[in-house]
Order: sequence, then structure tokens, then C-alpha cells
Amino acid sequence: MIEKDLGFVLRRHNFRETSIIASLFTRKFGKISGIFKGFYTPKKEFSSSLSIGTLNEFIFYPKKRDIWLVSFADCVHDYPYLRQNLAKSKAALTFINIIERTMQPWDSNAAVFSLVKDSLDFLAKEKEDKMLYIFLIKYLTLSGLKPQFNKCLLCHDAFAGTIFFSVSKGGLLCKECQHHAPDARRISKETSSSLLYIQNNDFPFVCRLHPTRGCEKEIYHLLHSFLAYHLEFDALPKFPLGNSWKKTAIYAG
Ligand SMILES: [Zn+2]
Repeated sequence: MIEKDLGFVLRRHNFRETSIIASLFTRKFGKISGIFKGFYTPKKEFSSSLSIGTLNEFIFYPKKRDIWLVSFADCVHDYPYLRQNLAKSKAALTFINIIERTMQPWDSNAAVFSLVKDSLDFLAKEKEDKMLYIFLIKYLTLSGLKPQFNKCLLCHDAFAGTIFFSVSKGGLLCKECQHHAPDARRISKETSSSLLYIQNNDFPFVCRLHPTRGCEKEIYHLLHSFLAYHLEFDALPKFPLGNSWKKTAIYAG
């Protein structure tokens, strides 16, 4: 049966002389592979450039086999900062890369789809560093790993004193229980409350958080280890993403 759906372009490569095979993250069907036959011929059905990270409307034919035939593609949002701002494009391409590498094919997840869309939308006006850790915390929460940020993982007590985080156990530990996790490390109260705030609040409210730079670094470092340990993803860009010298050069050009 023929289907119409929205989807982000995750990856693409040329196929034979005139076609493209692309990995797409769609709203209804999750991650799929699609073939765009005759993409490089003057075909009016393909008005999109299919650039990585863009949101498109597609018409395709879901089949049991691996690669679906896509007969129509129209760009809905091309996120101009992808071409104009190096730091923001690094954040956006990290969202895309994580979806491409860690989502299972045909695993439909409307909440993750909305997260990608909201994150790309808000990245236009919010700081790239903040949007990256918001995306990561929410993605880990929605993808089933759900790190625990509100109480001790082992004794379930709310925190009175020092707080620890264990990457291998997947959440916070109190001073007594941290002895059960060799990798437990102390984190600040600001970091633990920021993690919990981000996990529990939706867009646009989640963007109202303004942690200190030290807290942001701690959050980022912790997420870096968490992704590597649980999702074998070790391709986060260096923090902070921005570089004022490069930004100036891009704007000047
Ligand atoms: Zn405990």
C-alpha cells in the first residue's frame, strides 16, 4: 500500500548513475532505507535536495524487503543554520548521527520523532551546547534506558547529602550506596537537579534552564560516558561546540 509520511534524512549515498539510497527517520515507520530512482534526472516528483538533517514529506511503498521505493520527496524544513553556523550544525548532525546509529530499523517511535523535530526547531534560537545535552537526556529517557535522576537507584532514598552518579548502574546513588558501584563519582547538587529538570519538562519550558558553565561541563562529561557505555556511541563533538573565531569567519563569508 502507498503511504505518505514525514521524515528526516539521516544518511545518503549515490546509487548507479542517477539514483540515491537514503536512510530516513520517519514519523510512522521509524528508521527506513529508501531508494529514490532517477533522483538526478529532471523528475518533478523530487523537489527536495535530500540534504542530511532536512525534514521532508515522502510518498513510499512499504514492503517486507529492506529497501523501500520512494516516489516523491518535498522539503518541509531545511534548517538554514545547517549551512550557516558551524556550531549549530555540529549539534544538529549529532542528533541525526545518534538516531542513525542507535535506533533499530522499523522501530516506530513518535516521541523520539517529536524530540528530533523540537530539538532542530529550538536549535535555531537556543545555544547549541544546551540543545545538545537536552536532546541527549531526553533521548536516553525515551529510548528505554531512562537514567534515574530523582532518588538513589539502590535504596530509593531522596538525597540529603552528597550525590554520586554511576554510569554502569545508570543513575544516582547516595553516599552509603555508592560503595556498590566502583565507577560512582561525585556530582554537584546543581547537576543532579538540572538533569532531573530536563528529564521532567517538555519544550519550550525545558529551555528555560540556565546552568552554570561548570554544571554544563559536568552534565556533558557524564552523558559522554553514559552513551559510550550503554549505546556504544563514542562520537560526541568536543565541548563546548562553539568557536567564536570560526563563527566570525562563516558570518563574514
Ligand atoms: Zn542509597
